[in-house]
Amino acid sequence: MNEQVISFARQELDKYLKKLNVKADLSLGLFASFSIEMDLKDPYRDDAYVICVKNQKGFIAGSNERSVLLGVYRLLEEWGITWVRPGPNGTHYPKTCSAPDLDIREAAHKRHRIMCIEGAVSLENVLDMVEWIPKLGFNGYYIQFTKGHEFFERWYTHQLSTVKEPGEFTSEEAESYVAQVTAAIKQRGLLLHRMGHGWNCTAFGVPDDGWHEYKYEDIPQSFHDICALVNGERKCWNNRPMETQLCYSNPMVHDKLVNEVIKYTEEHPETDVVYFWLGDWWNNTCECEECMKVERYAEHYVNMINSIGDRLVEKGLKTQIVFSTGTNRAWPPLNKKIKHPDNTIMMFAPITRTYGESFPSKFNITTLPPYKHNGFVMPITVDDNLAYLYAWKQVYQGDAIDFDYHLMWDHILDAGGEDIARVAHEDIKNFDNLGLNGFISCQLQRNAFPSSIGMTSIGKTLWNHNTNFEKMKRDLYAATFGEDAVDTLCEYFGTLSKGFDNAVIRRKKDMHPAQFRANLEAAIKAMDEIQPYIEAHLNVEDPCQRDSWKYLAVHRKIYTVLGQSFLARMDGDYDKEKALRKQSQHIAFENEDIVQPVLDCMYYAHVTNTRIGFLNPELSNEVTL
Ligand SMILES: [Zn+2]
Repeated sequence: MNEQVISFARQELDKYLKKLNVKADLSLGLFASFSIEMDLKDPYRDDAYVICVKNQKGFIAGSNERSVLLGVYRLLEEWGITWVRPGPNGTHYPKTCSAPDLDIREAAHKRHRIMCIEGAVSLENVLDMVEWIPKLGFNGYYIQFTKGHEFFERWYTHQLSTVKEPGEFTSEEAESYVAQVTAAIKQRGLLLHRMGHGWNCTAFGVPDDGWHEYKYEDIPQSFHDICALVNGERKCWNNRPMETQLCYSNPMVHDKLVNEVIKYTEEHPETDVVYFWLGDWWNNTCECEECMKVERYAEHYVNMINSIGDRLVEKGLKTQIVFSTGTNRAWPPLNKKIKHPDNTIMMFAPITRTYGESFPSKFNITTLPPYKHNGFVMPITVDDNLAYLYAWKQVYQGDAIDFDYHLMWDHILDAGGEDIARVAHEDIKNFDNLGLNGFISCQLQRNAFPSSIGMTSIGKTLWNHNTNFEKMKRDLYAATFGEDAVDTLCEYFGTLSKGFDNAVIRRKKDMHPAQFRANLEAAIKAMDEIQPYIEAHLNVEDPCQRDSWKYLAVHRKIYTVLGQSFLARMDGDYDKEKALRKQSQHIAFENEDIVQPVLDCMYYAHVTNTRIGFLNPELSNEVTL
């Protein structure tokens, strides 16, 4: 038994009971200690708890140590605490706690409930998130790259900021931060997911420190020599090693990649799941004679995954390997199978999908476009994306997960945050029908603006897919803003989500100009009219709610100007559109010290610079990411 995690669960219980002013005599331990039996496939990975309390006496038992901690947070929630958002003043306490009797016996509906680092982050932002996710029912944290350098660097150098001077950030700092985050993950018994991007670099002596462009001559010739042969040339793709595919039929390339993954796995026994991805761009795969011999490009990938699987089995390692079925590997192999489904997890990452519609209750399309080497077209509709999942599921019977991006880009354009949260909720509810056993939320870590409904929806629906969205939303708003404000804010956020239709803004859904304009104008009017109401709440007593209103005051300033820029765009006045859009970014940056824990201002600027697609003459149809 991992005593460290149980003792952490005890500390957390004591800390919050004190806040609630409740005395309770509760034992904590694994199912076996309380003679509890539950039918679980894999008690290490499958979370379940039994909470049994009468007159403040009883126990919290878990299928594993992490589940004991999850059970502690669940009890505290039942006793009135709301985990509103990560970071300072993120917890809401009830005025009084009656500590009612509890009799709860639950297992998580989905095995994999993982938060993935993205965006621009400080060390504190990431530690706050690691602290928060088990409170919401997540069971793992995924740190990308060897040092997560890219994400920390974006914050500490204040990329895109119009206000802050760039700071310094070193590789050593990144390394130390990852060590601290890892310790926090392990302290809670959360599953540690690692790596992903960049094996195609690190295995060959090129650093995996981001997607930036190198000078041709700064990339070792030995690297150029093993890159994919594309259009008759063998060299690093656009001088971006991270995006480059290699010549995977080359036995040396195959062996080095496999060895690199095995070496990492052996040297990092604390890692539960290792992601093995290839280069990040697409239609840049090798066209050499040997690589072209396969009927499907994915066969090269499956060969490597099987070699890794063989070695894991040989060495008795329990680490699981995540493989990704996207882009040129979206067509499954015809003649090869993944040999070790227990050691692997299949990741479906519909990165170009629209978030204007949710996953359906069944596969509506089960045939794929004809296979074409370097001829992959990114699908946009949900059904076209899911067709590839269906095809892969015919050849792979292990765990499959949705690696998705609801809260990465598009949520920034959904000013109310509710539409995207509802799509995530509906997606997860349909996971069983689509054979998906979990979710990795690849998302900005600072993500509760105007509320945490997106993350809350994901966490709670993954634990229990019968969660009622409306009730969850109202409960969250009551804790976040106060019971008296729930009706007003439901209407307000609803109006904002309707006015900022993210699918139309991203040009992933047809626009009806008159309707769009009317909804947008209604949203702008609502943001004007709510000002005195927000101001009247800026000094409420409750510190969690006080911060929420403070964030809301900044939110309306930013989105009012963004909305006005959309109107200018509709009028065809692109100079005014740009000026207003830049002004809204500047308002965000000016207020960053206030909203830092809940809004990723760098990504606000990035998304509003690059992903507003409607009526945009500069964006071609090719740009769909
Ligand atoms: Zn080749």
